[in-house]
This record gives sequence, structure tokens and C-alpha cells, in this order.
Amino acid sequence: MKTKKLFTNDAYLKECDAQVVEVLDLPDEIPIEVGQERKNRIIVLDQTVFYAMSGGQPGDTGTLDDERIADTIYATDEKVLIYHCMEKPTQLKAGDKVHCVIDWERRYRLMKMHSLMHIAIFNFERKHGKSKMIGSNMSDKGRFDYEFFDPIDVDWITQETQRMIQEGHQIKTYGDEYDEVKRIWEMEPLGTMPCGGTHVKNSSEIGKISLKRKGLSSQGQRVYCMLEE
Ligand SMILES: [Zn+2]
Repeated sequence: MKTKKLFTNDAYLKECDAQVVEVLDLPDEIPIEVGQERKNRIIVLDQTVFYAMSGGQPGDTGTLDDERIADTIYATDEKVLIYHCMEKPTQLKAGDKVHCVIDWERRYRLMKMHSLMHIAIFNFERKHGKSKMIGSNMSDKGRFDYEFFDPIDVDWITQETQRMIQEGHQIKTYGDEYDEVKRIWEMEPLGTMPCGGTHVKNSSEIGKISLKRKGLSSQGQRVYCMLEE
């Protein structure tokens, strides 16, 4: 069974109709707080606008009719089946028709942040060459960690990243020819990068940004990415 991912063709879709395929209990590997229930906390839909956590981008939150979705994840590493994790045990049943609405402001910020991080990473590598990335994540701030010990020219990377954002380059995402799960991100003049995330269509949407460096003791250094508006 697969969930049709409406966000791959149009990252700007904020809502859709869908049908409940299955209602499941929250799997044991997902931690819950004391007093919370596992029963009827996962909804599988035939199609969705909800991005499932992957590639450092958090899963979407929002509503299914009048019930809250607290998180969205993939059922397995194959990334074909999406679990909508409900805030409370759901009243919905298989076969029910529902209307899905994502928390758009939060998602649009994550789209800007995700695109910003790609551009900042490209500029880091233009300046300092390819280094081993040992971690990356995004929420309110983005961050990427490199096993890299020389001084990082944060001012140069910030200036180049801001320039490319302001120039208003088109950003495209499309499916890998050989693997429907693998997707490609593309922005001229930087080229392509593998990514299944949701991105803005044009770099100018990202707006004003700032970057900050932080040492990670013996492991390397971290660069924080922030949206300023
Ligand atoms: Zn990405």
C-alpha cells in the first residue's frame, strides 16, 4: 500500500480531500507522554498534502476535519506509506471522507528554511571544498555540522547566499528517473542535489537571512541558518 504524495508535484497545496484507508495504534517505537493513549492514533489516507518527516525536514501538522494532526511520519524506510499521527485517539473510521488542511505558515517557513540550507551548504562547499557532513536539522533555525576545523568564512558564505536569494533564481524539484522515492532539487547556478523535501519556487521568497558559526569541540563546526523576516 502507498500513500499518494500530493506535495511532491505541488509544495504549495495547503489542503485536499482524502479517504481514510486504515486506523492504527501508535507504534511502540514512538514515545508518548504518561497518560496518553496509543489506540487509534494513526490515520492512513489514500492521498495527502502532509509532508512526512524526512531528510531533516519535520513532518507537517494541521487538521483532518476537526481533529488535530500532531506529526506526520513514514511507516517504514521505503517511504511509501504515510502515517498521520493524531493528537488524540481518532473518531474516524476506514472509508470516511475527510478534508486535510496543513498548518501553512509553519510549513512555508520550513520550505524557505530548507531551500536556504541547500544554498548555504553549496556556498560553504564553494568556499571550503567538500567536507564530511556529520549532521543537519531544521526547525525554527536550520543547522549543518561539518567535520571541518579551519576558520569558516561565515561573512562570505552569508553574502553569497543572500545575493543568490535576492537574484531570484527558479528552484525546481523532480523525480529521479530510476527511483520514484529519490528526488532531485535544482537551482541555477548551483546545480542539483538529491532531496525529497518541499521547497519554495523562487529563491527570492526566502527573504533576508543570517548565518552563525559555532564550534563543536573535537567534532568540527556547526553553521546555523536563520530567516530574518
Ligand atoms: Zn534537502
